[in-house]
Amino acid sequence: MDIRFDGKKALVTGAGKGIGRDTVKLLAKCGADVYALSRTQSDLDSLKAEVPEIKTVCVDLSDWDSTKVAVEGCGPIDLLVNNAAIAKLEPFLEVTKEFYSYYLNNYFVNRTMNVNVRQLIQVSQIVARGMVERGLGGSIVNVSSQASLVGLTNHTVYCATKAAVDSLTKTMALELGPKNIRVNSVNPTVVNTAMGKIGWSKPEKAEPMKRRIPLGRFAEVEEVVHVILFLLSDKSSMMNGTCLPIDGGMSSTGV
Ligand code: NAP
Repeated sequence: MDIRFDGKKALVTGAGKGIGRDTVKLLAKCGADVYALSRTQSDLDSLKAEVPEIKTVCVDLSDWDSTKVAVEGCGPIDLLVNNAAIAKLEPFLEVTKEFYSYYLNNYFVNRTMNVNVRQLIQVSQIVARGMVERGLGGSIVNVSSQASLVGLTNHTVYCATKAAVDSLTKTMALELGPKNIRVNSVNPTVVNTAMGKIGWSKPEKAEPMKRRIPLGRFAEVEEVVHVILFLLSDKSSMMNGTCLPIDGGMSSTGV
């Protein structure tokens, strides 16, 4: 299957590392004019060194005002990948305001919600308004997680944010579909990135999780990126509002 994005402008958030970084590379290879947005300038510099034709945008998406300026500055966008997110771990019974206030200066809950959910709404609004104005349609892929579909020990707030991403995917699909803007999410299992290592690098954590996955392994970055590009492309032209597991069968087999 040949997927090309010649003449299309794409924006990928969280492009500095992991899934976002490789999504930028493949989109550029497939002909898209890509804006790579992330938080750490050195990541963007090294990405630009690898793929000189991309444009880079350095902004912390938890900052509403800076995000507005940065995303509006990209101009019209045809393809959006809402990929940026953070994951911090905590047991459900320890999710209290006092816990975070005491240990983390009230940083974590607000920041996780801001980075995983609020900015996704803000970035999508800015991009979708431009799509509507131009009347040419568009495609948006939200990078969600298996964490929205099944419970994961110690991932309380992260799971909640990803369930919100799935819910947003469906509402956005409903409201933007009539304007020829498709919105879908991908819901990967553990992927071997910096984030994947946070929860799953220890064998005592990884092995029981792999046993829940009928294919018996975690996902490669490439296996997620290929599905993202498929959903961005016209090859998926009748898909809208789908939350698509990339989990080796875990969520559908209930193990
Ligand atoms: P990653 O390796 O940690 O990369 C995340 C990227 O997002 C980094 O470049 C990071 O920049 C950027 N980012 C984070 N906060 C940001 C902010 N406030 N503003 C701008 N950029 C920000 O993560 P990943 O594993 O590639 O994850 C990508 C997506 O896949 C996420 O939505 C994640 O929830 C989802 N996912 C991951 C897994 C997994 O196991 N890895 C599984 C399912 C779903 P800095 O490093 O500079 O902060």
